[in-house]
Amino acid sequence: MTIKNKRTPKVVIIGAGMTGLLVAIKLREAGIDDIIILEKKDKLGGTWRENTYPGVACDVPAHMYTYSFEPNPNWSHRFAYGDEIQAYFEHVATKYKVLPIIRFNEAVESCHFNDATWTLKTSKGETYTADFVVSATGILHHPAKPDIPGLDSFKGECFHTAQWNHDVSLKGKHVGIIGTGSTAAQVIPEVAKEAAKLSVFQRTPQWLVNLPNKAFSEKQKARWRSKPDLLKRLHRWYTFGVEQTFSKAVIGKKFQHALINILCRLNLWLSIKDPALRAKLKPDYRVGCKRIIVNSTFYDAIQQPNVELVTSGIDHITPEGIKTKAGVFHPLDVLILSTGFHPFNFMRPMDLRGKNGVKIDERWGRKVQAYRSLLIPEFPNFFLMLGPNTPIGNFSVIAMSEVQTEYILKLIGRWQNEEFNEVSATDTALQNFNDYLKEGMKGTVWLGGCQSWYLDEDGDPAMWPYSWKQWVKEMHAPDMSDLLTE
Ligand code: NAP
Repeated sequence: MTIKNKRTPKVVIIGAGMTGLLVAIKLREAGIDDIIILEKKDKLGGTWRENTYPGVACDVPAHMYTYSFEPNPNWSHRFAYGDEIQAYFEHVATKYKVLPIIRFNEAVESCHFNDATWTLKTSKGETYTADFVVSATGILHHPAKPDIPGLDSFKGECFHTAQWNHDVSLKGKHVGIIGTGSTAAQVIPEVAKEAAKLSVFQRTPQWLVNLPNKAFSEKQKARWRSKPDLLKRLHRWYTFGVEQTFSKAVIGKKFQHALINILCRLNLWLSIKDPALRAKLKPDYRVGCKRIIVNSTFYDAIQQPNVELVTSGIDHITPEGIKTKAGVFHPLDVLILSTGFHPFNFMRPMDLRGKNGVKIDERWGRKVQAYRSLLIPEFPNFFLMLGPNTPIGNFSVIAMSEVQTEYILKLIGRWQNEEFNEVSATDTALQNFNDYLKEGMKGTVWLGGCQSWYLDEDGDPAMWPYSWKQWVKEMHAPDMSDLLTE
């Protein structure tokens, strides 16, 4: 009897961030070697390469924010800082020999499907073909500039937190920061240490939970190095802990929501001494409606004598500073935009075309959707990692990417067995999936009367409204009856 060799696909991965590296490592483990990663910048790391603002850290516990197969005994703190996370991904890329397959400084400009093959053209003028394309471009990588009259007229230094200008000294300057989201909560305490005066322009207050950032001792790290099983246990423990608390609180579990609610309210009450300031910092929407900020330094910083919280709304920006709706002028030397991202762009502005030349903008129109967050009808053999409705309340995106990677490996395995040449989701499956999501949204806090980056133009949250366990269960294996194969 002759054993038929499996066919081997050519795979192009777009993006050398956390997800792109993971997919490459897992494909290799499955015996698939014909892989390249196209990376638009000169360095890997994605969000951790881009975000270098002072104070940048991950608000998911470090021992949970690691690949399950590569625990790290050397994390310095419970919540790791950006440079350490960047170093971790560089270490993983080196250890797993991913660097040689990354083509740096090659942004994908077009990606077209024809005859069961993807053809990609890059900014370097190169052309690549692939049987599968994995879009690993992340969620929050298109900085959003606020639409405030006069912004471009400001004549001091002005930059977004995700494009931090390290050449600008803040020492002795009057600095303005627009925004009070997760990023601002991390950056404000650091800027407050440098600036002569810091004006924080808040449009909407946020709920914060205080989990101190414990430093790990050398003794503790040595123990983890000598007993790797402890680290695996810690990974599981944190995953269980976050799943049982934060992730359940946001999807309508009453006990967990009450717990986080009390923690946030107590944090505000105990941290802010002045009742007037406390009132300004108190949100009027439910805890969790916007992403809960995990932070132990913002409330202290906002009470420093050189820091003022401005809540009267920005009317316009002049070359010299900001004029509020209350008519007060705030002269500024430096203006920092901590105004978030465009989360619905994904791989765009890439010219992505599926079957019969259909463009991604035509397909999505105003509604960005993907079956199981990964598969787009008419875009066969194309996987959108961390696509819409992936995010699970305050959970680790690494864990989510690992589950999605296993799912796509199963589909690629079927292709290798020649069960099909092309696979995509059916329109019906996408519709059913979205109906199912919509039903689940009813019990969540995201519809709790606030604006957030979770919501699309129709006010639908692009989140997963059920539990982490449920997601893992449903992602365990592709349901082939939902998929169109040729
Ligand atoms: P964000 O949560 O979207 O916050 C943007 C801030 O800018 C909000 O306070 C928003 O006010 C304000 N803003 C936007 N446009 C404005 C305008 N025209 N005028 C006045 N204010 C304006 O963005 P982010 O803080 O960068 O965080 C985004 C996400 O990144 C987080 O939710 C989190 O998932 C992730 N993140 C994670 C970490 C981590 O530790 N893992 C750290 C940083 C970020 P409104 O609230 O009124 O809209």
